[in-house]
Amino acid sequence: MSIPILMYHQIDEPPKRGTPLRGLTVAPQSFALQMKLLKLLGFKGLSMQDLQPYLRGEKNGKVVGLTFDDGYQNNAQNALPVLHKYGFTATCYGVSSMIGGTNSWDRGQVAEKPLMRLADWHAWLDAGMDVGSHTRTHAKLTELPPNQARCEITQSKEELELALGCHVNHFCYPYGWFAPEHRAMVQEAGYLTATTTQRGRAAAGADMFTLRRIMVARATHVVQFAAKILTAYEDRRE
Ligand SMILES: [Zn+2]
Repeated sequence: MSIPILMYHQIDEPPKRGTPLRGLTVAPQSFALQMKLLKLLGFKGLSMQDLQPYLRGEKNGKVVGLTFDDGYQNNAQNALPVLHKYGFTATCYGVSSMIGGTNSWDRGQVAEKPLMRLADWHAWLDAGMDVGSHTRTHAKLTELPPNQARCEITQSKEELELALGCHVNHFCYPYGWFAPEHRAMVQEAGYLTATTTQRGRAAAGADMFTLRRIMVARATHVVQFAAKILTAYEDRRE
């Protein structure tokens, strides 16, 4: 069984033309249409926490993983009500040292947008959503000495759990950058899954710490969205 795990970043009105990474901001109307389509096609949108039995091959069903990278406040504002409406769950990967901050790791390249504050994270959790880790500082793991990389992976879990009072079982590699030693560190830190930016649907029984995902961008047309979910469209290997 192939399981699509969707990767979103921001759900908001797109910034003006020419803005770098503009494509990663999906309009709220597009997102709502995509979730509606999943529902109409009989799919259930699930957080990484809820998707685990399907990924392990213990359960079968029409399911799609829903993930949001970075923890933008607009996820709580614009995505959460839609997820709630359809009874879906999702994982949002937060940057533990930047709760209530901005995507300052992109400074000078991309417009800075607010990240979820504590109250937003609590609203997210209270609605049955899942919190994952995206390191302490949105780190480029492959450029760090091993002890620092380990700290980013391990401490972010501890910091998020302490700040939010929840379990943080799922990890996402910033920029999709990792090496085998980082995969091992994620597993040793006690996470249960990790997602990458490598394209493709996840195969049931695949390695839980190098899971492929499907990017949904601003320009993803609803027909293309359906193809990404229903067909081998995304499974072409680079
Ligand atoms: Zn990120």
